[in-house]
Amino acid sequence: MTTSENDFRFETRAVHAGQQPDPATGAIMIPIYQTSTYAQEGIGVHKGYEYARVSNPTRTALEQNVAALEGAQHGAAFASGLAAIEAVVKLLSAGDHVICGANVYGGTDRLFRQVLARLGLQFSFVDSRDPELIQAATRDSTRLILIETPTNPLMHITDIAAAAEIAHGRGVWLVVDNTFATPFFQRPLELGADAVVHSSTKYLNGHSDVVGGVLATSNDEIIEGLRFMQKAAGAVPGPMDCWLVLRGTKTLHVRMQAHDRNGRRIAEWLEQEPRVESVFYAGLASHPQHNLARRQMSGFGGMISIELGSRARAEKFCRATRIFTLAESLGGVESLVSHPAAMTHGAVPAKDREAMGITDGLVRLSVGIEALEDLLEDLERALSAA
Ligand code: PLP
Repeated sequence: MTTSENDFRFETRAVHAGQQPDPATGAIMIPIYQTSTYAQEGIGVHKGYEYARVSNPTRTALEQNVAALEGAQHGAAFASGLAAIEAVVKLLSAGDHVICGANVYGGTDRLFRQVLARLGLQFSFVDSRDPELIQAATRDSTRLILIETPTNPLMHITDIAAAAEIAHGRGVWLVVDNTFATPFFQRPLELGADAVVHSSTKYLNGHSDVVGGVLATSNDEIIEGLRFMQKAAGAVPGPMDCWLVLRGTKTLHVRMQAHDRNGRRIAEWLEQEPRVESVFYAGLASHPQHNLARRQMSGFGGMISIELGSRARAEKFCRATRIFTLAESLGGVESLVSHPAAMTHGAVPAKDREAMGITDGLVRLSVGIEALEDLLEDLERALSAA
């Protein structure tokens, strides 16, 4: 099955897109082409593969698979989510301006402020929940808008179609970080985005055993640039990691439904809990952007943040869980708990963090696919301790 066979339903594409039985052996699973180079029959005569930084068949299968899930023509895989974000922003030149959602993952903020700004790119960080603020931030030199929706960890939602309209009115690319929602629940390209980026470390892989990134796009200029970046800058994933992510995407739809079931029930339970000051989950009717979330997402997954009011309570909570493991990252089948101010967003300047609402009392849950009752009992234990 190839990406041109996009008429199959999501679940079928998840299992098959980009993969056919191996022509040499009939192996049902794409082999891990663990090679750095490929024999050439004569000078310049080869089977389409020359050197593994440029391309590798296992990587190609992953790229086609994720492209098919996002409804894109092309995919490009990178060594991490941040390498993928860096690759698309490096299609710009010094002096170009990027508008970035204010509440993106802390590592994205760090990459922009501490690395790419030094090289002459300009960044404005705006609260992208309000399209007018995006519009107001545009300049003649603006070339790219990067938004994350829902955001990590405050679950802010950006109206993708409105952002795309602003971008296209000015000939600017809109790139959406779709890591939290995944293409099972949200497909930004269908809403007008030019490219989608993922930390495939998270839900796409789903088993917390790989660091990876991937972009999907139907824009020829973007994909040509990304292929050039893979070759020229070289932050590509190895074939084993591509194979593991491919194994993950085969069950993406099954896992996401399970994350969503547990996520919704846990968010509802936390919301009626007097020991929790507030709950951030786009699936709750009380979320200020719930209607927008329902319009552009078909489910809400397993990411929930809660405000406990103080660092001391957050620490006690995180120490008391037995199933929710205290760790960075998210999107695996196992439940994790983290403290964004000290962990994922530690690199964001403290005053920006506090202004956004990433307080010392904020705790983020990545709800896994374990038994709901066990997870609720674990949270009850942690709230009693806090
Ligand atoms: N985007 C989001 C929304 C993330 O949560 C993360 C990592 O946590 C990244 C990008 C960066 O991905 P990676 O850790 O694979 O580099």
